[in-house]
Amino acid sequence: MDRIARIGVQPHRVVIVGGGFGGLFAAQALRRSNVAITLVDRAQHHLFQPLLYQVATGILSEGQIAAPLRDVLKRHRNVECLLAEVVDIDVAARKVVALRPGGERITLPYDDLIVAAGVRQSYFGHDEFAQWAPGLKTIADALTIRRKVFGAFEFAESATDPDEQRRWLTFAVVGAGPTGVELAGQIRELATRTLHAEFRHIRPEDARVLMFDGCSAPLTSFGPKLSAKAAAVLRDLGVEMHFGSIVTGVDAEGLDVRDQAGTTVRHEAGTVLWAAGVEAPPLAEMLAKAAGAVQDRAGRIEVRPDLTIPGHPEIAIVGDMMSLHKLPGVAEVAMQSGLYAGRRIRHRIGDGKSLAPFRYYDLGSAAYLARGNAVVSAGPLRFAGFAGWLGWLFIHIAFLTGFRNRVGAVLTWAAAFTRDARRERAFTTQQIERLHDVYDAPRGRDRPTNAPGQSQP
Ligand SMILES: Cc1cc2nc3c(=O)[nH]c(=O)nc-3n(C[C@H](O)[C@H](O)[C@H](O)COP(=O)(O)OP(=O)(O)OC[C@H]3O[C@@H](n4cnc5c(N)ncnc54)[C@H](O)[C@@H]3O)c2cc1C
Repeated sequence: MDRIARIGVQPHRVVIVGGGFGGLFAAQALRRSNVAITLVDRAQHHLFQPLLYQVATGILSEGQIAAPLRDVLKRHRNVECLLAEVVDIDVAARKVVALRPGGERITLPYDDLIVAAGVRQSYFGHDEFAQWAPGLKTIADALTIRRKVFGAFEFAESATDPDEQRRWLTFAVVGAGPTGVELAGQIRELATRTLHAEFRHIRPEDARVLMFDGCSAPLTSFGPKLSAKAAAVLRDLGVEMHFGSIVTGVDAEGLDVRDQAGTTVRHEAGTVLWAAGVEAPPLAEMLAKAAGAVQDRAGRIEVRPDLTIPGHPEIAIVGDMMSLHKLPGVAEVAMQSGLYAGRRIRHRIGDGKSLAPFRYYDLGSAAYLARGNAVVSAGPLRFAGFAGWLGWLFIHIAFLTGFRNRVGAVLTWAAAFTRDARRERAFTTQQIERLHDVYDAPRGRDRPTNAPGQSQP
């Protein structure tokens, strides 16, 4: 019997793994239902990932894009938030196993389970690149990139060796999708518009930004017209694009890249950033094995049209971690699938009726290119330039979580737009030490000693 008739006896127990867009929208769909929801996440915040690159490049603060889950869900009386990392799912006993901070193992029994744990950065089998080339998925990643980027200008300023100075002023971005394009454009913009008057021994505007991707153009998912526009804007910004390129090595001083002709070229770069691909986390493999589910090439779990795992109507997978009809890993898919999974439970415990299969409504996507310039693709409509930027602005204000964050972001963007201001650039002395350690340790060299005021060749 699929219908669950426990109402009045004991609330139906729903465990949601992940408080990203998928998990949050599932909880919202169940707001008025007689269910007891435990939303378990290893982070205490809901993160608006599409704006991570603005934290990484000093425009927004982390608090403006990460809202505490407890705060977001405080009026949802049937939701309990739990800070813990899910490490196992006992499918037969219907229990989620999680580690609380400190390592204590706890189990969470469920009647229905919604898994919305997202994806992680993929280095295509070269996880060793990660120590030199951080990806951009979490607040911690954004803060690492921020201190690497702004730290690079500081190291260039104090370097005595011109080669070293050039290396610090060279930034490599791997990946020409939205995140790669946004990072590359922002680094050129901050170098030319924000930092240009602040240094005495270097010209920040001389900073080189190299972009590498195996495909033939940036933003290919936006179609040829917008892709060409994006390429033109990036060229005008000064981004050096290398397409048909496969990165074969990354280390503290740069990267090795194989071009279309099969020749491997070395590029010296003090900062390498990775925005090239994603894969499902180990939790997906563990769950797929336990439930007998199939994973796609990126490790995402294949689901039925009602988003459940075959043979397990009590387990739904939503958002980036689900594989269905080749839907893209975007926020809108996560929101709509999360809402659907919540509604489906509502129907089951309510009148027992099943919902029509999940249908995705593509509301479009946007990517920021430069100040006042973005591309938006929505159904048959394509916008670029200032119109695209207005579309980008509307979408991001509409979906940023929390009214205060929306107002704060708009004010910050206004300052960034009119005065090229980037206020979020501070990092601590310990963080500078760590940057030096990463850079120096493999080569055992001394730290740069050039004192402020010393002239450079
Ligand atoms: C840099 C970047 C830019 C992006 N830009 C855009 C954009 O412009 N437009 C767009 O539509 N989409 C964009 N996306 C994609 C969009 O953010 C994702 O599609 C969306 O966040 C997916 O939602 P989700 O709920 O599936 O996963 P996530 O939002 O990733 O949430 C997963 C949650 O699960 C938690 N979690 C993971 N594993 C565990 C575990 N084992 N135990 C407990 N908790 C766990 C995580 O802490 C996280 O809170 C971007 C993504 C990134 C990284």
